[in-house]
Amino acid sequence: MTNSPATIPPSHEAARPSNFLRQIIEHDLSVGTYATRKWVGTPGDATHQNTGSADPAKVRLRFPPEPNGYLHIGHAKSICINFGLAKEYGGVCHMRFDDTNPEKEDTEYVNSILDAVKWLGFGWEFNNTQHLYQASDYFEYMYSAATALIKAGCAYVDEQTPEQMRLNRGDFGSPGINSPFRSQSADQNLKRFNEMRSGLLPDASAVLRAKIDMAHPNINMRDPVIYRIRHVTHHHTGNKWCIYPMYTFAHPIEDALEQITHSICTLEFEDQRPFYDWLLQRLIEAGMFQSPPPRQYEFARLNLTYVLTSKRKLKQLVDEKRVNGWDDPRMPTIAGLRRRGYTPESLQLFAERIGVTKSDSWIDYSTLEIALRDDLDPKAARASVVLDPLKLRITNWDSLMGEGHLEPCKAPVHPHQPERGLRNFKMGSEVWIERADYQDTPVKGFFRLFPGNKVRLKYGFVIECTGCVKNSDGEITEVLATLIPNTKSGTPGSDSVKVKGVITWVGVHEALSIEVRLYERLFTEAHPDAGGRDPLSCLNPNSLRIIKGFSEPDLIKSGSDEKFQFERHGYFAADRVDHCVNSPVFNKITGLKDQWNN
Ligand code: ATP
Ligand code: MG
Repeated sequence: MTNSPATIPPSHEAARPSNFLRQIIEHDLSVGTYATRKWVGTPGDATHQNTGSADPAKVRLRFPPEPNGYLHIGHAKSICINFGLAKEYGGVCHMRFDDTNPEKEDTEYVNSILDAVKWLGFGWEFNNTQHLYQASDYFEYMYSAATALIKAGCAYVDEQTPEQMRLNRGDFGSPGINSPFRSQSADQNLKRFNEMRSGLLPDASAVLRAKIDMAHPNINMRDPVIYRIRHVTHHHTGNKWCIYPMYTFAHPIEDALEQITHSICTLEFEDQRPFYDWLLQRLIEAGMFQSPPPRQYEFARLNLTYVLTSKRKLKQLVDEKRVNGWDDPRMPTIAGLRRRGYTPESLQLFAERIGVTKSDSWIDYSTLEIALRDDLDPKAARASVVLDPLKLRITNWDSLMGEGHLEPCKAPVHPHQPERGLRNFKMGSEVWIERADYQDTPVKGFFRLFPGNKVRLKYGFVIECTGCVKNSDGEITEVLATLIPNTKSGTPGSDSVKVKGVITWVGVHEALSIEVRLYERLFTEAHPDAGGRDPLSCLNPNSLRIIKGFSEPDLIKSGSDEKFQFERHGYFAADRVDHCVNSPVFNKITGLKDQWNN
């Protein structure tokens, strides 16, 4: 598989604050903790690796998703940490699919995960080698590891019922009780384990357990199960196996086979670290792996307000059609954020700003939007767009300007980057304005259009409002105004008439009709699944509103996925899927400022 990682712009490389992971890696590099490691070019045990030479990668990290859904913003944090640290310290991050669980995997998920990592700007190539792995390729090694443990007297086949096993595990206050199978000889265990493998035993009739300490204060160390029987077909290995390793057994072995140096995971695995270390130490003693082994480090997972970060719960939204697929712009999936208009740089910036900590907390959603605005503000071209159109008619246009005259107007593509040039559009006798820019009887402090008031049509002329036209229901159908001559923006003396209001507009004769999709939060509660709440109970019924608006004519040329700042309205992206020249569709990414916290 090939990939071409995008480059991270230098502006985001600068001034990275230290964090505990950077400190650990810098320490390991300075004392040469992993300097003697050998790497032959592919994953494998000590016998395999020892035929290689010194590992050219200074550090090896890994990103190990289970391909059971699309990745979300929490995974984006993990990707930025793992791939980011590898890049920063002259190493590589392995892309590893954790598919030891024989549940159905979907190639759609596999592809979406690879896409997400690449889109975020990362890759798994190092030294002309693609480090793309799948854990199920290691089943044979895992089986050997289990056998080695049995031979060393460190594992046994337990045939208690699951219920007995549960009862005998004890709890926080009381030690567990040894299984009657615990004292079986290594030979007996080997024979029975082979029978498990060859399919002689039914599901749940036996398990292989590590033999550690049934009185250990950490319950994970009370002879944890390392293999179970499951007569199911695995999507990669087919019917070759009917026993499958438990995650806690498989993961350290995967790391060791791939010569991972720093195995970074979320805090919920902290209690598993003693077993991770115990297991790799036993396997080093058995000669299976080189020393020193990989080490596990835990960081706080990302919790973002108003957002679900669980593939399982997001899958439910998709399956129950509460959203329009995994890449619905309301979804916190990387695919959804991308379609909404988030940029890889904004997500990297967000990950860098929230940093890496060792205690769980909630990050306010506005932090993500601020990173987005900081990234988009200098990039996004400006555009004039009217989202709730009302027609304004300049009654003296024809007499002043000539019948049907269209006056060329210019506006900067970006107000702070003159080198990006100008946008061109024209003003005629009729323009679309925002409905909210006219008030028949103005409220206090309203400086825009009302009878007798003057405003500037941005980049155009000053006009004076003379009234409006209403239909039989009393609804305003047209605003009327007169043009004040010699006030065109950018012409000498144009500011001789002082106005307090400037409004955006689009010429009726050239307005481009666009579909605009406006989004609100998907949930009405900041912590949608807190305390066991069903997140569906707080789904926001107004999370999507589709409207028709008018834009200046050049917007039609925008490529799909292109980002804009619609003046006064916020940031918008041409929808990656539905936008085309003949029917332009824009997603609102976010407003110009935080609309939620004030
Ligand atoms: P989910 O429950 O959403 O499936 P998971 O942790 O089971 O999440 P994996 O596919 O196993 O998902 O995750 C791959 C990597 O991403 C893991 O190393 C995991 O620690 C990390 N990760 C998952 N969720 C978050 C999160 N919210 N914040 C930071 N990292 C996360
Ligand atoms: Mg999972």
